[in-house]
Amino acid sequence: MTLSLSDYRDVAGMSAIRELRLLGDKIAGAKVVHVNSTREGGGVAEILRWMIPLMRDLGLDTTWEVIEGTERFYEITKTIHNGLQGQQVYLSAKDWAMYCEVNRENADRLRSKIEDADIVLIHDPQPAPLLQFMEKRKGKWIWRAHIDVSHPYRPIWKGLRQYIQGYDASIFSMMEYAQPLPHPEFLVAPSIDPLSDKNRILTQQELSSVFAEYNLDPDLPLLVQISRFDRFKDPVGVIQAYRLVRKVTPVQLVLAGGGANDDPEGKAVLAEVMEEAGGDPDIHVLLLPSDAHVRINALQRLATIVIQKSIKEGFGLTVTEAMWKGKPVIGGDVGGIRLQVFNHHTGFLVSTPEGAAHRIRYLLHHRDRIDQMGDAGREFVRDNFLLTRHLREYLTLMLVVTKGATQRLLTV
Ligand code: UDP
Repeated sequence: MTLSLSDYRDVAGMSAIRELRLLGDKIAGAKVVHVNSTREGGGVAEILRWMIPLMRDLGLDTTWEVIEGTERFYEITKTIHNGLQGQQVYLSAKDWAMYCEVNRENADRLRSKIEDADIVLIHDPQPAPLLQFMEKRKGKWIWRAHIDVSHPYRPIWKGLRQYIQGYDASIFSMMEYAQPLPHPEFLVAPSIDPLSDKNRILTQQELSSVFAEYNLDPDLPLLVQISRFDRFKDPVGVIQAYRLVRKVTPVQLVLAGGGANDDPEGKAVLAEVMEEAGGDPDIHVLLLPSDAHVRINALQRLATIVIQKSIKEGFGLTVTEAMWKGKPVIGGDVGGIRLQVFNHHTGFLVSTPEGAAHRIRYLLHHRDRIDQMGDAGREFVRDNFLLTRHLREYLTLMLVVTKGATQRLLTV
């Protein structure tokens, strides 16, 4: 079901909707194209799924294109991703050439759809080189980084930077990620769609059926981490924390996630997780299909405490999703999790399995704190991380970037 902006009136407030309509009127008719590397899996696809219809509802001619690549291409882009998040990784000149070549092929395929756009938003490193193949581009090109680039491994950032510097602007999720670039840089935090299957209120029957499907124990508190099987999400550390809690308090754990089409490392990480779980019947490792939105929603709602023990994190939409459902979050003290989890207020920031276990035990023994933190988290998300705020910042940014360049858009 495609929602329109007015459907969000109750959850986000009438004034937020009115403000968006006013902004939308100023840029209506602009052709906007988003480009990323997967339609399913991970936070970027999650955001684009709601953003495209709502931008259309605001009068922008918006489309979403996805680049295509070989297995080797995605291994290379995953290496770039890991390097940008600080890992010391190596790419040969041949690898960089292949990264570029796959983008050239995609540029040929997508040219007629994006060369005449007023604004092109390129998400993350995978499609970044597209720009250099658009000699006749008409509009403004913006690079949107969703990952933690606060301490990139320098050779990888240097390699990528040559493709980024030609952009008209870039967007980062938080101040710490901004890198010196020869164009304006903007800060825009991501957000969630409160009415999507991932976040809407579920019926008791929907909740019960997920509970039964995964054979969860009604007598045990439930710890949940939802994430792609990625080492930066530290699923093995979550199991270690669970074991430390388990020594003193009975508890069960769900580690649920699927793969993203552009993430080739998932299988290996899942195998590591299974080994660490070692057949413990109270550890439920769930490999979910990409459309398991209601199931993820239910698991987050069924959780007593949600964990997101990442050791690197661009933003952490799973944290926002959990907080929106009134759950305290034990989150890694990194990246965008720090924008959302405030110690003792909406959850706890931790750096080790021992730290996570300590906080989990505290909450399990102070159940009133679980509810208080959950309520605080939900209101924090309402004020800061709903899609209305996100759209407002994108529209404002688009107006700023196009100002002076596209007369048609300048009737503001
Ligand atoms: N997600 C999902 N299926 C999975 C794992 C994650 O739909 O198996 C969703 C999750 O609910 C969230 C997004 O993918 O909306 C993950 O975004 P986040 O920012 O937490 O991490 P990323 O995967 O982008 O690093």
